[in-house]
Amino acid sequence: MDFELSDDVKGAIARAKDFADKYFTEEIAERADSEEQFPSDIVAISKKEKILDFSNPWQVLVTIEELVRRDPGLGISVTISAFGAEIFMFFGNDAQKEKYMNPVFAGKKSLGLGVTEASGGSDVASITTEAKLDGDSYILNGGKMFISNGQIADNFLVLARTSPAPSPEKKHRGLSVFVVDAKSPGFGINKLHGKLGVRATNTAELIFDNVRVPKENMVGEEGKGFYYIMTFFNISRIYVAAQGLGIAHGALDRLIEYSKKYADHSETGELKEDMQLAIAEIATRVEATRNITYKAASYLFKFTPNPIVTSMAKFYAAESAVFSTQKAMELMSLHGLTSDLERFFRDAKILDIWEGTTEVEKLIITRMMLKEGGA
Ligand SMILES: Cc1cc2nc3c(=O)[nH]c(=O)nc-3n(C[C@H](O)[C@H](O)[C@H](O)COP(=O)(O)OP(=O)(O)OC[C@H]3O[C@@H](n4cnc5c(N)ncnc54)[C@H](O)[C@@H]3O)c2cc1C
Repeated sequence: MDFELSDDVKGAIARAKDFADKYFTEEIAERADSEEQFPSDIVAISKKEKILDFSNPWQVLVTIEELVRRDPGLGISVTISAFGAEIFMFFGNDAQKEKYMNPVFAGKKSLGLGVTEASGGSDVASITTEAKLDGDSYILNGGKMFISNGQIADNFLVLARTSPAPSPEKKHRGLSVFVVDAKSPGFGINKLHGKLGVRATNTAELIFDNVRVPKENMVGEEGKGFYYIMTFFNISRIYVAAQGLGIAHGALDRLIEYSKKYADHSETGELKEDMQLAIAEIATRVEATRNITYKAASYLFKFTPNPIVTSMAKFYAAESAVFSTQKAMELMSLHGLTSDLERFFRDAKILDIWEGTTEVEKLIITRMMLKEGGA
C-alpha cells in the first residue's frame, strides 16, 4: 500500500493550482454564480492549456479536486466537457471514437449525457423517450431534464427506449444509447434557470421532436443501454466524489484563513476552542473522504471497479461537502453567510443529487453487500 502520489500527479495538482490562481478570481466566480453564466472564456483557455490530461485518470481526478477546491461552479464547468465520453471508450466502435470521443479529449468539442427525464432521474429504467426505426435511421421523440452542458455540447449521448419492456420487472431491457448532434432538426434546448447551486454550469431541458438519427449513431448494441449507463455511473461517481473532496477541502481552507485573520484570540494566542474543534473535525473528514475516493479510484483505474466502494465514496464525499461547508459557515457567523462559503454550501448540496442521490447510493451499497458479501 503506497499513499505517495507520483510526480505526474503532483505536477497536475500544481498546474491546477496555478490555473485557478490565474483565472478563478472571486469576482469571476461570484458573477458566474449570480448571473448563471457559463465561463466560456476560462473553459476555452483550459482546453488550450490542456488542463485535463485524459491520458492519465489520476491526473483528471486530482485536477477536478483542486479546481473545485478553489471554486465548485467554475471548477466543474472546466472539467465537465467530456461528460459521458467513457461510454464511447468502452462501448463505441472505432468510427464513433474517432468522430465523437477524440475531439472531446482533444479539447475541440464538448459532450453531454441525456438520461434524466422530467418524471424522475433515479429510476433510469422508466424513461419514456422513444427511438423508432425508420429505414436507415431512428426517429427520437421525448425529452430530457437537468442536462449538464445543455447549451454547450456539440453532441449528446441519449438513452431511449427502442423496444417495449418485456415486463415491469425487466423494464431495464429494450433501452439503447444514441449519439445525437445538437444541431439536428427537431432538437430543442431550453436553459434552466434558478438552480440551487453550481450556477456557473449550464443546465438545460432537451426536447426531441421527431429527431432523425442515423442508424450508425447507436452506441454499442441495441437493448444494452441501461447496462452502459450504469457502467458509466460507476466511473463518473468517482469524479463526483472528487468534487465533494474539493468542496470540503475548500471549506477547510476558508475556515483556517478566517481563524488566522479574524477569530478571537485568547491572551495566549490560542484560537477559540469551538473553532479548534471544527478545524480538526473538517480536516479529518477531508482526509477520510480522500482515502475512500482514492480507494474507489484505485480499483477503477486498474480496471477492477468496485461499485460498493464507489457508491460509498460518492455519498460520503457529498455528505462531507455539505457537512464541511455548513460547519465552516456556522463558525464564521456573519462572514460565513456573506462570503463565498455561502456559494460553496449551495454547490455542495447538488452533489447529493446528481449521478445518483445519496439514498440511491445507500440502496446500491446494501443490495450489493447482501448479494455479494463485504466491500
Ligand atoms: C445541476 C444538475 C445537473 C444534472 N446533470 C445531468 C446530466 O447531465 N444528465 C442527466 O441525465 N441527468 C442530470 N441531472 C439529473 C440528476 O442525475 C437527477 O437529478 C438525479 O438522478 C435524481 O433524480 P431526480 O432529481 O429526478 O429525483 P427523483 O429520482 O425523483 O428522486 C426524488 C427523491 O426520492 C428519492 N428516491 C428516489 N428513488 C428512491 C428509492 N428507490 N428509494 C429511496 N429513495 C428514493 C431520491 O433520493 C430523492 O431524494 C442533473 C441534476 C442536477 C441537479
